[in-house]
Amino acid sequence: MGEKRKRGILIIDDEKSNIVMLSHILSPDYTVYASKSGKNGIALAKNNLPDLILLDILMPEMDGYEVLSALKASKETKEIPVIFVTGLSDSGDEQKGLALGAADYIAKPFSPAIVKLRVLNQIKILNLIDEIRVLSVTDQMTGIANRRAFDERLRLEWDRAKRDKSPLTILMIDIDDFKAYNDLHGHLQGDTAMRAVTQAICAPLNRSTDFAARWGGEEFAVLLPSTSPSGALTVAESIRKSAEGTPIPCSGKDTCITVSVGINTYTPVLPATKSNIHNFILKADQALYTAKSMGKNKVCSYEDI
Ligand code: GH3
Ligand code: MG
Ligand code: MG
Repeated sequence: MGEKRKRGILIIDDEKSNIVMLSHILSPDYTVYASKSGKNGIALAKNNLPDLILLDILMPEMDGYEVLSALKASKETKEIPVIFVTGLSDSGDEQKGLALGAADYIAKPFSPAIVKLRVLNQIKILNLIDEIRVLSVTDQMTGIANRRAFDERLRLEWDRAKRDKSPLTILMIDIDDFKAYNDLHGHLQGDTAMRAVTQAICAPLNRSTDFAARWGGEEFAVLLPSTSPSGALTVAESIRKSAEGTPIPCSGKDTCITVSVGINTYTPVLPATKSNIHNFILKADQALYTAKSMGKNKVCSYEDI
């Protein structure tokens, strides 16, 4: 992994000296942008999507409360935490700011150490949120996308396919005789094999839009956007061969695992077909079932059933 990117902080304050001081305090650790007006600050926020915003309250034209309300009302900026940096010291002002959705409040004149620490608190929360986000879409054992991520991506790709009238393919993949493998070599070796098969499944996926996930148990699902039935067959066959050709070391010997693949392609046509996501998956499952009944280590398309 490369070095972590610097977090971006936007300062909105009509006093140039405040911008200069805050930039001086924060720029060693963060990428700092600044704006002297609320209106321009909102535009910058939408454009640059900073990780955090430091916002003055008393400003001409648009005050900090109005800016915060506008930021919270916009889909793109509503999640960005905002810290008020203000000379207003009344607790009513602080309460108003927090009630509008400010994450924190720094009183002017500010101490550089407190600015740094309050900013760092917000950054730590952001880091945790990022970590939770990654965990929530990742399958712990294999490291690829989990079922939740797959369902989300499928809805997105399904809508895109319909909109663009472009084909969408799903591959349902199931490890062959995995119960027997576990029974023979133990579940820990089974887990090792599952990780090796995951790599084998992902290796032939070349397009950035191809998407592989662990469906559950020893099953995987792959989405291939803009992929016709013949293209899908090529990819599925590559995956089958890739798994078959991946040696899985076990107690000094190589073991082998094979997979069966069911393919289904949705081709949106005019007028709109009656297809839905449920049937889209079901047909791939039926093709997988046929591949199993043909003797396993096989690829089968729904259209060939
Ligand atoms: P088939 O070729 O018909 O798919 O047979 P199979 O044995 O692969 O299928 P079956 O559904 O009978 O058994 C699936 C096995 O997969 C049983 C279960 O122990 C194993 N399995 C599922 N998830 C995991 C896992 O996370 N780790 C390990 N080690 N095994 C798993
Ligand atoms: Mg199986
Ligand atoms: Mg299974």
